[in-house]
Amino acid sequence: MPSGISRMNVLLLGPQGSGKGTQAAKIAEAYGIPHVSTGDMFRAAVAAGTELGRRVEPILASGQLVPDEITIALIRERLAQEDASEGFVLDGFPRNLAQAEALDEMLREIGRPLSIVLLLELDDEICRERMRKRAELEGRADDTPEAIERRLEIYHRDTEPVVEHYLATGRLVKVHAERTIPEVFAEIGQALEAAREREVAS
Ligand code: ADP
Repeated sequence: MPSGISRMNVLLLGPQGSGKGTQAAKIAEAYGIPHVSTGDMFRAAVAAGTELGRRVEPILASGQLVPDEITIALIRERLAQEDASEGFVLDGFPRNLAQAEALDEMLREIGRPLSIVLLLELDDEICRERMRKRAELEGRADDTPEAIERRLEIYHRDTEPVVEHYLATGRLVKVHAERTIPEVFAEIGQALEAAREREVAS
C-alpha cells in the first residue's frame, strides 16, 4: 500500500456497470481517503426513510437523475466534512455539465483541484450484461430493463459531455474496463502514482 499519500482528489467517470463503485472502494482503501458516491448516499437515504430518501426513491427507481440542486447541495456538504479534507474519491458525480461546473467552483473555493480524472471505458452491450447480472445478485430497484436503458441513454446524453469537459484539463486518463477487477485496479494504481508524482513535482 502506498504510504504518505494525502490530498489525492480523485474523480471516477464511466458508464453504468463499468466498475466505478468497485474501483472507487479499492482506491479509498488503498489511499485512506473517503469514497464519496452520490448513488450510495441516495440509496442510504432511501433505506433510512429520511425526507431526502422519500423524495428521491421514485427518481432512482425510474433511472432518472435527481435534480441538480439537491445533488450539488449534498456533495457540497459531504466534501466539507473533516474526513474529506485530505482527499476523496468521487463516484457518480458530476453526471452533467452543470454539476461539473458546480464541482469545479467548489474545488476552486477550497483551493483543491482534482488530481486525476479516471474514465472507465466499456461498451454499452457489456454494460447491459453486467447490470443484468447485478440485478440477479443485488436486486437493485433501478436494474430493471427500462431503467437500465434510461440510465445508459442519460449517460451518453448528459455525462459524456462531462468527459469532454475534463479531457480539456489534461488530467483525464482512460482505462479499459473490460478486464478483471485486479487488472483494472493495477492500471489505476499506476495512473494514481503518476498523478501524485506530477503533484509533488509541481
Ligand atoms: P449507476 O451509475 O449504476 O446508475 P449510481 O449508484 O451511481 O448508479 O446512481 C444511482 C442513481 O442515483 C442514479 O440513477 C440517479 O437517480 C441517482 N444519482 C446518483 N448520482 C447522481 C447525480 N450526480 N446526479 C443526479 N442523480 C444521481
